Amino acid sequence: MKVGILGGGQLGRMLLQASANYVVETYVMENDKHCPAAHLCHHFVKGDIQNFDDVYNFGKKVDALTIEIESVNVEALEKLESEGIKIYPKPSAIKIIKNKIRQKEFYQQHQIPSSDFVVTQNQNELDDHHHFFPAVHKLAEGGYDGKGVQIIKDKTHVSKGFDGHSVLEKMVNIKKELAVIVAMNDKGETAVYPPAEMVFDPVLNLLDYQVSPAQVPEKIYWRAEAIALKVVKDLESPGLFAIELFIDEDDAVWVNETAPRVHNSGHHTIEANYCSQYDMLWRIMLQFALGNTNAILPSAIVNIIGEEGYSGNAKYEGLNEVLKMENVFVHLYGKAQTKPGRKMGHVTILDKDYTQLVRSAHAIKKLLKVMA
Ligand code: ADP
Repeated sequence: MKVGILGGGQLGRMLLQASANYVVETYVMENDKHCPAAHLCHHFVKGDIQNFDDVYNFGKKVDALTIEIESVNVEALEKLESEGIKIYPKPSAIKIIKNKIRQKEFYQQHQIPSSDFVVTQNQNELDDHHHFFPAVHKLAEGGYDGKGVQIIKDKTHVSKGFDGHSVLEKMVNIKKELAVIVAMNDKGETAVYPPAEMVFDPVLNLLDYQVSPAQVPEKIYWRAEAIALKVVKDLESPGLFAIELFIDEDDAVWVNETAPRVHNSGHHTIEANYCSQYDMLWRIMLQFALGNTNAILPSAIVNIIGEEGYSGNAKYEGLNEVLKMENVFVHLYGKAQTKPGRKMGHVTILDKDYTQLVRSAHAIKKLLKVMA
């Protein structure tokens, strides 16, 4: 079977690593032949994932197609689907998720709890919606890694808003941010991963790590899983999805957004769960049984980020020390060049004791630096 991946970033790289356990011929399309996934696939195709012809011609080479980023040409995927190529997830689901206006409307139509919103076309309109403040303004398309998101606390912040199709949504009083990964196969069978929890610790200044399973009361845990499952069932598409959720100060659960693909919040599943998110997507695409999503041990993920003030050929300071740590797994994405804030890899830590997980996460953040 021939399977194509649109996008050759780190998620594609890890998806390809998991493909080594199966009999599958892999194709990757990306415009940079030095991308993290390029040398791990059987066939690398240079192309623009947003261009109709590039995506269509790439799709015609394979039996099934998946994405590692949602900014792809959906029209080409729709045509490919109509010609019998299997697409995971369905173009109809990508279309909803790709655009934040459509995504919010989808939650509303399906009575999935998500913060109240209005659609705005330009910055001037924000004044008309001041009763929404404090609010969060989000570009409908093209934003990523927080770049298409602005907090509008009050009228004095209106000039920070976007001058294009956007959603203005009510600010949630966030107590915790969770992410739940849900898999669905062609038969409609589902598997749900234990929720992961983003940890923001201003005291330790550890803004960048995650633990799972999340440490939340059982009631919230089940509610988060049930809501995430409903999102995927209502999208009516096989594939693998990550649902980002907010728990507010009153313990209500809200959907923030959904990613229709393997996700950063599931990196730990490689070592920490019986079946990784990557393995799970192969099982779905190759028509095998779904895997076991249970956690083997609690885990933490620490991102390896390009150090402030360093750009150029990446050098990893402290790597050997981290590799010596027990139950610690380093994943470098093979990017030759570092720059401040660039995601260069991640480290997964396993430990039955959550306090120890946090300690190790802190130690690794101090030890491992990407310099140039
Ligand atoms: P991106 O797609 O760029 O990651 P998100 O929509 O996930 O953007 O928003 C980024 C962050 O902004 C969230 O993780 C959360 O901390 C904050 N945020 C987003 N929407 C809201 C909201 N409605 N209320 C409060 N905080 C929010």
